[in-house]
Amino acid sequence: MRSGSIDRRTVVFAGLAASLGAIAPIRALAARVPGAIPILAYHRFDPAIAGPTTITVRTFETQLSQLAETGYRVTGLRDAAAALRRPGAGAPSQAVITVDDGHRSVYTVLFPLIRKHRVPVTLFIYPSAISNADYAMTWDQLREIAASGLVEVQSHTYWHPNFNAERRRRSPTDYRAFVDDQLQRSKAVIEARLRNRVDMLAWPFGIVDAELEAAARKAGYTVALAYEGGPAAPGADLLALPRIPVSDADRGARFDRLIGVTRPAVRP
Ligand SMILES: [Zn+2]
Repeated sequence: MRSGSIDRRTVVFAGLAASLGAIAPIRALAARVPGAIPILAYHRFDPAIAGPTTITVRTFETQLSQLAETGYRVTGLRDAAAALRRPGAGAPSQAVITVDDGHRSVYTVLFPLIRKHRVPVTLFIYPSAISNADYAMTWDQLREIAASGLVEVQSHTYWHPNFNAERRRRSPTDYRAFVDDQLQRSKAVIEARLRNRVDMLAWPFGIVDAELEAAARKAGYTVALAYEGGPAAPGADLLALPRIPVSDADRGARFDRLIGVTRPAVRP
């Protein structure tokens, strides 16, 4: 655990600000690539126990604080994509929280935090698991989350295939039909179940290429997410936007680096 690291750093910066006679907030000390938007990728949450893709409540709240103190406003993916399309000078820095796979802890652990902090979140689910797999949420839970107005539920394909493996084991014609079905059926089922527009996609395992992008465009998606790559820069390919996978160890300076924040070195 890295408890205490952010507290120490906060003290250091408070001391620096005092020594400079400054009253500016910490955000004045942060710098980042202009217009770049960190799109954070999460999976599971737990009240206290971290795992490889499981974030504790404490870490998540620490990360929200760090985003705020470094001048980021958390927005929905739709707003962020619009900003990447048409970057405006002087626009506030945005960060996006995305959560893949529809794990039940999104309902039991994350949803209370979403309401507490009034933070927008974009969920990517694959309908074959919903109200079916024991680790996944139910459609009723998703409806309740979506009704909060803080959460958009979008597509992670129909059953989360590995498109590289499917390409290898299918004929070209069969593969193309399979991809179209995964993209179209997911969109149609979520739209019918939740009565919202589905035009955003997270690529399973981050696997994406030109052929998959063309299929996504044809299916009606306007934004699609890869899985790694750092903050998304203005002008980035909207059907393969990079993301930042987040782990429970990402606090303090480690999380700063992920979201593109650099702070001046402070020597004791
Ligand atoms: Zn996934």
